[in-house]
Amino acid sequence: MSYNAAKYQKPMGSRHGQACPNFPRKKRFRDLKEAKTKLVNYRYQGKLELEERGETTFKQKRTYYCNACKGYHITSQDKM
Ligand SMILES: [Zn+2]
Repeated sequence: MSYNAAKYQKPMGSRHGQACPNFPRKKRFRDLKEAKTKLVNYRYQGKLELEERGETTFKQKRTYYCNACKGYHITSQDKM
């Protein structure tokens, strides 16, 4: 790789949307604010769906910090 090409490569870890090594299928958020915003959004969609159909697939409850990817995830599980 030439010097010029390397210059445009972003360092690993700072890339947006990077998959988590522990939970590659989980959505990853760079910071808590981003995760919380999304969680509020999920809750709102869940509320609408619940009112409309009596059930919802949006069951996300809380955000948590992930050591594996140094980012945040949203989970539907209660804290252990
Ligand atoms: Zn993670």
